[in-house]
Amino acid sequence: NNGQVLLEVKGLKVAYGGIQAVKGVGLEVRQGELVSLIGANGAGKTTTLKAVTGIQPVADGDVMYLGRSIKGQGAWDLAKQGLVMVPEGRGTFTRMTITENLQMGAYTRSDADIDADIDKVFAIFPRLKERRDQLAGTMSGGEQQMLAMGRALMARPKVLLLDEPSMGLSPIMVDKIFEVVNDIHRQGTTILLVEQNASRALAIANRGYVMESGLVTMTGPGKQLLDDPKVRAAYLGE
Ligand code: ATP
Repeated sequence: NNGQVLLEVKGLKVAYGGIQAVKGVGLEVRQGELVSLIGANGAGKTTTLKAVTGIQPVADGDVMYLGRSIKGQGAWDLAKQGLVMVPEGRGTFTRMTITENLQMGAYTRSDADIDADIDKVFAIFPRLKERRDQLAGTMSGGEQQMLAMGRALMARPKVLLLDEPSMGLSPIMVDKIFEVVNDIHRQGTTILLVEQNASRALAIANRGYVMESGLVTMTGPGKQLLDDPKVRAAYLGE
């Protein structure tokens, strides 16, 4: 993949009070790539994403998007520019229907293709189509994850940031979610995927980064990391 660099994190440091959660992280995501960020619980993966999207302040370093620093910009401004995050825990509007949630996903847009895009999301997630008039809060965890991803796609992301989409889901739903992430990537969306499920995340990734204690300790093609004895020992239970 020789696409241009869309997102670049440089020497990123993030702290919660006196606790350094991210201690100098560098990574990049190029046009067309699916990049997976893996690591144990508490390694700083989610914090890295939160700093990219302005939810946590950057203590040091920089975040570049489309060649410009986006440090200090909020989630709404970034979504308008095509940098869209699906947060851990999903955050769907529980008292709105599926269709209303998808319409909300297009809130940064002013064009008229919204209904056509809802049909595209329904093609990716037939389950959402079946339940289009159901309240989001009454759906299963896996269905809510699908809805959160569908809602993010409604913003027409240039880079889609996914925070632990498989977390807390049944094995069948985990299979489904990874299949869909892979499909969305193959259909042309650039993705940064944060996951604790290292084997599945690396299997579909062009490249991966391994985080430990606030730092990137390994990087390489997804398949190469998947075959690395150190990765296998630490994250794949071997
Ligand atoms: P997980 O998979 O559990 O989300 P992670 O790799 O995403 O793990 P982070 O959630 O980024 O890790 O957490 C990194 C470190 O920062 C951890 O030590 C965590 O306890 C700490 N941390 C995270 N959020 C906060 C917070 N709001 N206040 C204080 N410390 C926090």
